[in-house]
Amino acid sequence: MTIEVNNLVKQFGAFKALDHVSLKVETGELLALLGPSGSGKTTLLRIIAGLDWPDSGSVHFDGQDALSRGAGERNVGFVFQHYALFRHMSVFENVAFGLRVQPRATRPSEDKIRSRVKELLDLVQLDWLADRYPSQLSGGQRQRIALARALAIEPRILLLDEPFGALDAKVRKELRRWLRQLHDEIHVTSIFVTHDQEEALEVANRVVVMDKGKIEQVGSPDEVYDHPASAFVHGFIGESIVLPVDVQDGRIRLGDRVLDLQSTNGVSGPSKLFIRRHDVAIGPAGSGVLEGDVKHVRAFGPTQRADIALHVGGNETLIEIDAPRDRDLKPGDIVGLRPRRFRLFAGV
Ligand code: ATP
Repeated sequence: MTIEVNNLVKQFGAFKALDHVSLKVETGELLALLGPSGSGKTTLLRIIAGLDWPDSGSVHFDGQDALSRGAGERNVGFVFQHYALFRHMSVFENVAFGLRVQPRATRPSEDKIRSRVKELLDLVQLDWLADRYPSQLSGGQRQRIALARALAIEPRILLLDEPFGALDAKVRKELRRWLRQLHDEIHVTSIFVTHDQEEALEVANRVVVMDKGKIEQVGSPDEVYDHPASAFVHGFIGESIVLPVDVQDGRIRLGDRVLDLQSTNGVSGPSKLFIRRHDVAIGPAGSGVLEGDVKHVRAFGPTQRADIALHVGGNETLIEIDAPRDRDLKPGDIVGLRPRRFRLFAGV
């Protein structure tokens, strides 16, 4: 089922939580809504779900108006960050719940409910927990059960709001992979909200980057990472060094120094130079585009992170660079730095 939202506006008092948001989600997509806290992700998801209404704009599912239908009539399954499982019901009963509360005319028989719940517990690979209660499950297991419960009604759309947000890093990683695989099996049109860029890039087919109630960019994980459309997207996705520069006639000036870099995207005037922390080659003094003193080095997983002081127009600017662990770096070294890739965005 496709989802199309057009020109959605939602205000809370004078505050615009959604500012003319338009988006089309294709059938079977797994779309991430990515943005910082307060950017409007949950508000957009709640409007699609039918838990909230916009001030203006439209929502269509497969071309049919959705706003005239309540949440219960939209055939949408939800999973939220804080597992909304019923504490007094077993896992089995939690998953069966959506089927049992259907109107008598459409409610499946007890046999059908049993076989459907078994199928769903198999799908989330937790059939062995059917008789347990939520308090006897781990956080990750609860979220998988919450997903099985959301899928019980055979929703045409699945909405997940920070589904793994409350879990520890290792479990989150496992569940991300698991969600991807599950989606490959069931192909239901899905939107999940996250503020974690790694999660969005790893799980989604397409990523929608939001800021201040607006969509900044929509693209594949590669597109938003390799070709960020704005300074905001570049700064939010991946870790970047940001330097204030001035561009005149294609020459990039940092303080009193003209950098030996070709400006590519037609930017001119006061701008920001963005370089990802791992996109910098470090060589001996005099070999780079920039020069700096290594101040501090610390191991950081497979890489090492170095604090390097650049001398720009009499001021010291501290930047952080990620380099391979085998690169010999120590405090006091003077190094030359050459960006392998960079992007310029106009504005200060
Ligand atoms: P988070 O990642 O923190 O959940 P979000 O991107 O999902 O953030 P929303 O929950 O959509 O953001 O909120 C967007 C803005 O609207 C926030 O500034 C929030 O304070 C405001 N907001 C949301 N719901 C209400 C409400 N019921 N009343 C007033 N303001 C609200």
